Amino acid sequence: MVGPVPVGGGAPVAVQSMTCTRTGDAEATLAQVRALAAAGCEIVRVSLPTAEEAPAFAHLVRESPALGNATDAESSAAPRVPIIADIHYDWRLALAAIDAGAAGVRINPGTMAEKHVREIVRAAAETAVPAGSGEADVPVAIRIGVNAGSLPRDLRDRAAGDAPGALVEAALRWAGRLDEWGFSAYKLSVKSSSVPDTIAAYRLLRGRSDAPLHVGVTEAGTVWSGTIKSAVGIGALLADGIGDTIRVSLTGDPVEEVRVAWKILAALGLRRRGPDVISCPTCGRTEVDIVGLAEEVERRLDAEPALAGRVITVAVMGCRVNGPEEARHADYGIAAGAGEGVLFDHGERVETLPEGQLVDALLARIRAGA
Ligand code: SF4
Repeated sequence: MVGPVPVGGGAPVAVQSMTCTRTGDAEATLAQVRALAAAGCEIVRVSLPTAEEAPAFAHLVRESPALGNATDAESSAAPRVPIIADIHYDWRLALAAIDAGAAGVRINPGTMAEKHVREIVRAAAETAVPAGSGEADVPVAIRIGVNAGSLPRDLRDRAAGDAPGALVEAALRWAGRLDEWGFSAYKLSVKSSSVPDTIAAYRLLRGRSDAPLHVGVTEAGTVWSGTIKSAVGIGALLADGIGDTIRVSLTGDPVEEVRVAWKILAALGLRRRGPDVISCPTCGRTEVDIVGLAEEVERRLDAEPALAGRVITVAVMGCRVNGPEEARHADYGIAAGAGEGVLFDHGERVETLPEGQLVDALLARIRAGA
């Protein structure tokens, strides 16, 4: 459990992201946590680079929005989105984060002395975090987050020829320590910016550990290229049944990370959140601006909270040849051609409308079907 969120053991794959505001700017960071939660983020990681920022971190923990529905934040009984602290080098910051109410800490033990990792584990085990909904409190969770860029000194040579092997060795070394110390509330990650290395490392790790795995491709790049790398890397692993929480790392707005993560889960049929707009690629038969129509439908569905949470399939098709058949199989759909289009509702042809009225009519139909 990461606070109220189950991780591993057959639980649904949880979506994580990380804030990119200055943690000390409590209001800006809280606004980002709320935006992430509204987009479907279930675990939010926040860096804690200095002890001066611990009070702001504590504020975030207190004010974190309700899990699964950010508009419900007023309800004190609702489980809150758990906040995880990201710590490197300074073990005392991990203790400060635990003290401030963190549901989890992500540490890279290779950057710390073993006795200090032991201190963190002891504090995590002794600190109770609410799991919400009448459940018993849980300990602070720990992620042993190994990265290709920060391996322990003795594994760096091995990494040059066998990066996956070195990553896994580092993770297992620390997992073994936590096992010896009797601490089981941990998960592992072995991220690399190389997609093949990431896939190979997690496959190797899955064969050698039953611990829950946090999966991602680190430093994946901009929204465009990072989305592709993440979809390939995370997608390949999830398709193999590997991965209990995921984070898409993008150089951009973290809300985009959450949107991409949900798209990956939906594409694999693992979890759905919000509408899935399917649209044709257009071809020489296309007689309307199908690109504009599809983008407008997606944007307007996203912008309306009551619709953004509906698990529906909406088809936007560009002609009368294949379009009607595809649109018929979706929950709602339009098949447009020659300045007009047909509106479909659960396979039924509803009416033919001018192109300019199609999107309004489609959205009205979806709203009415709530
Ligand atoms: Fe072309 Fe029609 Fe297929 Fe769209 S649905 S790609 S317009 S044939």
